[in-house]
Amino acid sequence: MKKSPAPRLSLVIPVFNEEKNLEPLYKELRRVCDGLSSGCEILFIDDGSRDGSFAALAALQKKDRRVKVLRLRKNFGQTAALSAGFDYARGDVIVTLDADLQNDPRDIPRLLDKMAEGYDIVNGWRRKRKDKFLTRRLPSNVANWLIARITGIKLHDFGCTLKAFRSEVAKSIKLYGELHRFIPAIASNIGVHIAEIEVHHRPRIHGQSKYGIFRFVKVILDMVLLRFLMSYSTRPLQIFGLVGLISGLAGAVLLAVMTYQRLFQQVGLGNRPLLLGAILLVVLGVQLITLGLLAEIQVRSYHEASGKPIYFIREVLDADKPRPRSRS
Ligand code: UDP
Ligand code: MG
Repeated sequence: MKKSPAPRLSLVIPVFNEEKNLEPLYKELRRVCDGLSSGCEILFIDDGSRDGSFAALAALQKKDRRVKVLRLRKNFGQTAALSAGFDYARGDVIVTLDADLQNDPRDIPRLLDKMAEGYDIVNGWRRKRKDKFLTRRLPSNVANWLIARITGIKLHDFGCTLKAFRSEVAKSIKLYGELHRFIPAIASNIGVHIAEIEVHHRPRIHGQSKYGIFRFVKVILDMVLLRFLMSYSTRPLQIFGLVGLISGLAGAVLLAVMTYQRLFQQVGLGNRPLLLGAILLVVLGVQLITLGLLAEIQVRSYHEASGKPIYFIREVLDADKPRPRSRS
């Protein structure tokens, strides 16, 4: 069979037990794709579903050659499913959305218009979110506020899965754990222009959400990790070393004062709990500095072994070389 020409747009949709949503979702997506002037592929990633999702996807794939299905061997999680989709996608622009019909495919052309203004990522903002307040919207608002403050990226809705990416940006970020919520923050590491537009949101009708309230705790921990990765992953000694120095110096000063008092003012050491505190601070200081040094060694072997550069190029102007972005 002849290979179809590379599509301009790839829709990447992770699916985990969404059997009843797939047919209606496909119909909405088909309408959007038909309305686009450029080619489009609809890439479903079946993340080890245990219901009839795969059969439903296979049926859709038979009907429409724009539909492609990747079936993962087991449930690897939404982040891994998205990552598989990014690797497989062939479009210049990748749009991600959920399979549960909560995102509205009619927002896709608006995302593309915004991308055309020159952005690398356009993030959806579910301003009128149709989820429960106490268990979903409140924790999400708190998390969004924290993430925006900590990462310095001014978005309202990091959790919105309806997003558009320039393909080379999506393909160059490495995702682990449940870091898909932080893709804009991770991508900001490589230097990207990010925009945000309001998108529609609908209540979930079929199937269940895959996450509970415990997600909030995970998000907060991931955020700490991300902050570290964003600022200090290439210079860990600066953060561990700094804390270690402060602690070690504070301990040393306390010890010096106590030694002075013992030697010249006849203040006994036996009944001074502070002595323990001072020793603890010194030991902690030494430990932290050592940890920083070990982390430096790790960082070096990480970058060298994986061939991961410490810089990312946006464009090259060189008469002898074709521009990387223009593919045709
Ligand atoms: N999903 C997935 N693998 C998982 C969990 C979720 O592929 O392990 C998919 C799920 O089918 C849906 C999307 O990720 O398309 C978002 O999941 P969900 O709607 O449960 O999240 P929520 O909207 O509640 O944040
Ligand atoms: Mg959902």
